[in-house]
Amino acid sequence: MKITDGVFQLLTPFPKFSTAEARKIHGEIRDKPKVLKGLPYVLPYLIISNGEITLIDCGWNTDTAFEALTEGMEEHGVSPEALTKLIITHVHPDHFGMSGRLKEISNCEIIMHEKESDFVDSRYFADKSFTNEVQNDMQRYMRQHGVPDLPADLMPKGSMNRMQNVLPAKADTKVRGGEHLNIGDFDLEVVWTPGHAPGHICLYEENRKILFSGDHILPTITPNISLHIQSADNPLRDYISSLEIVEELDVEHVLPAHEFDIRELKRRILEIRDHHYARLDEMLKCVDAGATAWDVAGRVQWTTGTLADFDPFTQRAAVGETLAHLEYLFEEGRLSKIKRDEQLFWIPV
Ligand SMILES: [Zn+2]
Ligand SMILES: [Zn+2]
Repeated sequence: MKITDGVFQLLTPFPKFSTAEARKIHGEIRDKPKVLKGLPYVLPYLIISNGEITLIDCGWNTDTAFEALTEGMEEHGVSPEALTKLIITHVHPDHFGMSGRLKEISNCEIIMHEKESDFVDSRYFADKSFTNEVQNDMQRYMRQHGVPDLPADLMPKGSMNRMQNVLPAKADTKVRGGEHLNIGDFDLEVVWTPGHAPGHICLYEENRKILFSGDHILPTITPNISLHIQSADNPLRDYISSLEIVEELDVEHVLPAHEFDIRELKRRILEIRDHHYARLDEMLKCVDAGATAWDVAGRVQWTTGTLADFDPFTQRAAVGETLAHLEYLFEEGRLSKIKRDEQLFWIPV
């Protein structure tokens, strides 16, 4: 879909969705917005200008997603083999999974934030003992917050699991925010927006007043903000500060990586901020006389249901999200925490 001269929105489906299904859902929610329980697709953006062919994000590394990407590029007269640059907003597998395949066929320049690049090195290119260590730390961390152990059949199987539908690529160019990437006639300013991921970036094109927002700003859902062993110390504080950074920009068209494109950036930022402030108040009430993060997550009214209905991985994401809010409240002096019998309890002050 053409956004403006030289900018096109593509679509690559998540595993388990066909391209036709994903396109249909995109059309439906764009006409009539509603919150979906799972994500069916990613929206990569293609920029073609003066012989430069750039993608912002790609998709999971499945054949279906690769075919959808190829088809999308061919509609605009280019092919993945001709790609010159691939900019990654953050290295979650839905945005980054296909990067290794694209690098192999095009030798494009891979650009990402230095913090995401560090994460790629430690997650995808570290030796097995390191990966096992991280998994053990993660399990200990979850126990400490009251989360029951994963059933044995769901335990991650080391490198096999992390490589599923991901062919990683290392960064050729690492950015920190503030740089200007010149893509032909386009001047993309790198805006560092930590929160959802420590090295998440948005790309801002001032002349055209467009913002490629990645997962930072989405039209109806709020991105997962989680506290865990590989996150920043207070990711919710980072996220709220990052909302303020993009709020300052003069934007007429927001191009997110999921759902659909929107026009009103400032209104959406207000909604997202209200959502987190309401959730903070709700969590404070849920702490009661002292509770683990697991207890609190079980009392929260999640938009997609209750903790007991979630699968174990979604439960972990919900606990991470809960912890991000509890830590924020702690740093604001509205909560304190104590350790008892290897478990961490949050208590009102
Ligand atoms: Zn993400
Ligand atoms: Zn995403």
